[in-house]
Amino acid sequence: MSMHPAHDLDAFEKRHGFFVGIDSDGCVFDSMEIKHKECFCPAFIDNYDLQAAARFAREVWEFVNLYSRSRGINRFKAVLRSLELCRSRAEFIERKVAVPELRELTEWVARESKLGNPQLDAELKRTGSAELARVMKWSREVNDAVEKVVRNVPPFPSVRPALDRLTGDADVIVVSQTPAAALIREWAEQEIDGYVSLIAGQELGTKDEHLAATAGARPGAVYESDHVLMIGDAPGDHSAAKSVGALFFPILPGQEEESWKRFVSEGIDRFFAGSFAGAYQKELLAEFDAVLPDSPPWSHA
Ligand SMILES: [Mg+2]
Repeated sequence: MSMHPAHDLDAFEKRHGFFVGIDSDGCVFDSMEIKHKECFCPAFIDNYDLQAAARFAREVWEFVNLYSRSRGINRFKAVLRSLELCRSRAEFIERKVAVPELRELTEWVARESKLGNPQLDAELKRTGSAELARVMKWSREVNDAVEKVVRNVPPFPSVRPALDRLTGDADVIVVSQTPAAALIREWAEQEIDGYVSLIAGQELGTKDEHLAATAGARPGAVYESDHVLMIGDAPGDHSAAKSVGALFFPILPGQEEESWKRFVSEGIDRFFAGSFAGAYQKELLAEFDAVLPDSPPWSHA
């Protein structure tokens, strides 16, 4: 067990025959609801002056970030998607709420994969854009709110037994779109940081990039097929797994503890025994697929 996880993809070393990437928010920690409802969403409504349709803006934010297939999406992509959905809702149009389009953010998100505050700050300094300054202000407010509000959130009860079982035989890393500072604080506060050799947050790129740089084909550090697993609670985690040909164990939103129990009682054994791929994987994915909707429940304008 390493005492201090690395925070740099280049520092990753293959030490075991198996690899496990684990998402953090909503997967290890029951932190999605508190972060989005108490931190992200109030700052979003305030920053983009959506007070006149606040109830609907909240519904949109929660749909995008918690209750649909985009759950767990990067925060800057979430702003763009949420504003897009707000613009298309009848309530915003009828109430004449001016919902901004954020063309510069759209352009930055399309060309940058490391969607974190340091990169946005560099872009802001380069361009002096008022639009990006407003996004930056919101993102910093969110981080301050998370630091103030989100504490004493323990991992789901079966996470620790799972990590205990994994660490002797697998290289375990955190694969997340949360800022590194928050991840390091949360994993250390709960004393589970010693189980992982690397913590990768939004500043180190997308989840696909995290996995490509660690479990992907690297000279001298290639894992056998079916020896790489990703654990997550969102379709984005599954697609990251697919991008490197990894297996995927879903933590079902709303049934997280049951999912972790199942991972401890059968998933881990199957992974180490080579009986995870195939029928078992298919069954897990079918259950996962049924949990989150694609389109919003409200009517479009
Ligand atoms: Mg998650």
